[in-house]
Amino acid sequence: MSEENKTKKVRKILGIKGMNDILPDESPLWELLENTVESVLKSYGYQRIRTPIVEETALFARGLGAVTDIVEKEMYSFEDSLNGDQLTLRPECTAGVVRAVLEHNLTYNGPKRLWYTGPMFRHERPQRGRYRQFHQIGAEAVGFPGPDIDAELILLCRRLWDDLGLDNIRLELNSIGNAEERNRHRSDLIAYFEQNLDLLDMDARRRLHSNPLRILDTKNPHMQDMVNAAPKLLDYLGPDSLAHFEGVQKILQRNNVPFTINPRLVRGMDYYNRTVFEWISEELGAQGTVCGGGRYDPLFEMFGGRPTPSCGFAMGVERLIELLKAKSDMALSSKVDVFIAHQGDEALLEATVLAESLRNTGLDVVLYCTAMNSGGSFKAQMKRADESGAAFAILIGEDEIKSGQASVKALRAGKDGENQSAVPFENVADYLVEQIVGECECGDGHSSHGHCIH
Ligand code: ATP
Ligand code: MG
Repeated sequence: MSEENKTKKVRKILGIKGMNDILPDESPLWELLENTVESVLKSYGYQRIRTPIVEETALFARGLGAVTDIVEKEMYSFEDSLNGDQLTLRPECTAGVVRAVLEHNLTYNGPKRLWYTGPMFRHERPQRGRYRQFHQIGAEAVGFPGPDIDAELILLCRRLWDDLGLDNIRLELNSIGNAEERNRHRSDLIAYFEQNLDLLDMDARRRLHSNPLRILDTKNPHMQDMVNAAPKLLDYLGPDSLAHFEGVQKILQRNNVPFTINPRLVRGMDYYNRTVFEWISEELGAQGTVCGGGRYDPLFEMFGGRPTPSCGFAMGVERLIELLKAKSDMALSSKVDVFIAHQGDEALLEATVLAESLRNTGLDVVLYCTAMNSGGSFKAQMKRADESGAAFAILIGEDEIKSGQASVKALRAGKDGENQSAVPFENVADYLVEQIVGECECGDGHSSHGHCIH
């Protein structure tokens, strides 16, 4: 069998459905988002926490509630064949963070502001804005009972949208009270749904007694009028819950954060209480919620900890990236400063030394390396130089080795007429730094080397 036939026989292994590769072209956008998030969270004093991707299955079953969408049908759960442990790929990160806070007693000397980012896994039907591996950025403020922290988390989100240049993300707010208030509402709600049994779809009938609150969250258009007229949880709030809710609203109003109260807004997880909120964009079709959050005071006790009132949010990175992509003025790329082309054995050696010395000064440098399907002529190398987006190319051949001077070529058009200079090897770094400073096209006067995002 010829070599060629052998390779044809090999089965091509593809990525898993609903789990995406994030390719190099998209990476600058991810980095912009990650960097912006990191600096915004830091500016509010949040500290990063990294928990494992795999946790014991019981953590999610207990933490999220057995009758939630996630636990019912979306978890990647498996038995570790090496020791029989029951494990789950995390579908969200709040449960893991709470476990870690308890395990390491992080709140021993007071509350903590924490944040995380990373992949989450849910076995859902893949579609726009809904994947099986997706990424979340989240914050958890643990040990804070007041409405001030709820409002802080919302203000933090607003700042993030502003810094990313995302407008048109609106805020919906609700309070789902405490367990006792929800119970009173729940009995009335079940009675109301029973009176309207013929209008309920299969999903709603199944949830009628297990999780009737979730029926309010239905996306079925035929049920909208009926759920709109259902008893509202807001009308069942006692004075403490009401005061808390009003406290959040007052801070938002004073800080000019517009919001609408959506009495039907509930969160998917059982552990939420009082404040719940969602940030929604109309530009994403059916999957418009870019961030969901709220208060989860009972969760620590459900895990056997001391009462630790807490509030947090999680945002969907893929959905935010889609919004960023749609902004046409976002010209991002991962350009380097310098491309070094060379020909001949001595030129290669000199080029490696020069490349290292330029990197020492902080420049980003691509050195041409022997490439497949390419002859390595200067012409072929210069094509790569253009593709790299470098502002300068340096050519080193026999002549340059003889004269001890590199040929430095400005690749961007419109540079002071002459675009090639002979520069002694030891002066190339100084020469380039001088040329590059003030070069950025954004007009902000910083060096192009700062990876401008304008
Ligand atoms: P939905 O009602 O859309 O299913 P959810 O209540 O399951 O949302 P959360 O668990 O609160 O969502 O997750 C917070 C955010 O994470 C969502 O608002 C969304 O932006 C993002 N998200 C959730 N599931 C997915 C997914 N399968 N793919 C991509 N992003 C997701
Ligand atoms: Mg969901």
